[in-house]
Amino acid sequence: MKKIAGHWQILMALVLAVGLGTIFRNLTIAADGEGEFVEFAKQATEVSSFIGDLFMSALKMIIVPLIVSSIIAGIGALGGVKGFGRLGAKTFGFYALTSLFAILVGLTLVNLIEPGIKDGQPNQTIAQAFEKASTDASDAEKAKIEQANQRKATDYADFFKKMFPPNIIAAASDNGQMLGLIVFSILFGVGMTRVPPGEMRHLQGTMQGINDVMVLVTQWIMSTAPIGVFALMFPVIYDAGWELIRELLKYFGTVLLALGIHLFVVLPLILKFVGKVSPIAHFKAMGTALLTAFSTASSSATLPVTMRCIQENAGVSRRTASFTLPLGATVNMDGTALYECVAVMFVAQVMGIDMSFGAQFVVVGAALLTSIGVAGVPSASLVAILLILKNSNIPNAEIAVAALLSVDRLLDMSRTAVNVFGDSCAAVVVASSEGEDVLTGNPTSSAE
Ligand code: ASP
Repeated sequence: MKKIAGHWQILMALVLAVGLGTIFRNLTIAADGEGEFVEFAKQATEVSSFIGDLFMSALKMIIVPLIVSSIIAGIGALGGVKGFGRLGAKTFGFYALTSLFAILVGLTLVNLIEPGIKDGQPNQTIAQAFEKASTDASDAEKAKIEQANQRKATDYADFFKKMFPPNIIAAASDNGQMLGLIVFSILFGVGMTRVPPGEMRHLQGTMQGINDVMVLVTQWIMSTAPIGVFALMFPVIYDAGWELIRELLKYFGTVLLALGIHLFVVLPLILKFVGKVSPIAHFKAMGTALLTAFSTASSSATLPVTMRCIQENAGVSRRTASFTLPLGATVNMDGTALYECVAVMFVAQVMGIDMSFGAQFVVVGAALLTSIGVAGVPSASLVAILLILKNSNIPNAEIAVAALLSVDRLLDMSRTAVNVFGDSCAAVVVASSEGEDVLTGNPTSSAE
């Protein structure tokens, strides 16, 4: 019998989790939230979350050795950073422009659809639902808001300080903060090419070896992806907070439509006309990475899979992939930038605050800058949203963010997939502009 391809298995797991989650949820509602079945369902979701966390942790486990070895081996193999300045300029240019496009798509739709307005007035039902959801918020959610409240705008500027962490071990162990590690690895790689070549031969071979082994380990972990994805999705569907989502349908629709336009129209046009590659071929190459991003809601945890897909399926060289992707997972978040803008405008609409052109301009700038500092972990952008709301003097910011947090997962999954796809587009467009043979159907697996 022919083996079903990995991404189809993951997709099937996703569909199964949605189906079973919905059935369990409806049976729980039918039993009025009490009784033996409900107890069983709750235990099942707990076990499921536990297995899902294991899968996420396994992916995160390989991030540090993977990034470090691939950057160092990539630079070492080239004998230096010739052309790195050019690569850097292209990558950053791509990241800034695509994030801006994403924000503008979001801003346009939120102004056209006005999800927070009903009959020309701020939607009171939503404002009340916000109040209720924020009072009902779990202790963990309340603690998160409390923590977010402590953040200041300057914390995002501090992000640049993280480029040079005083302690590289601490930076490596700080989940989601990869910038210091990237800079350190680049310096290490360059240093390696500047000492007498004979002495470095072994080190270069070692780095290359570590990288090859990490790619193989990623493959092993991904062979459990259907189970991991099911385990992550099932509890999400079971306790997604559907009552509030029902009130927020227009808002959810606006966000998903904007993300969809960026994912299926803007980025493919860029792939076609700037990268001169087939968008369909690229979607196919990145299928597994997209599904993993969607299920984990973490671009950092997805990074090993993104790296593998881009090299093995799209044929991007190790040099380009190891530079663009870890950086992208850290600083480039198209979906997040778009979401921040839509969320802030939506809360302003619900709270009856008229955002002038100038005020919207500030939101665009803030979304662009803060999306650079948002970590690639679930719900990370809600902190940035709270900050922008408070800076824009929008009342009841904490209440609104607590409510949005309680129904964040589904939108988080969608924007994370867009974040990861945006990074992968940068990798192929930059690779294609560097003369690499990408998406030709005969990929040069982990080519140098
Ligand atoms: N979960 C997103 C990511 O990992 C970040 C966010 O928007 O919350 O890319």
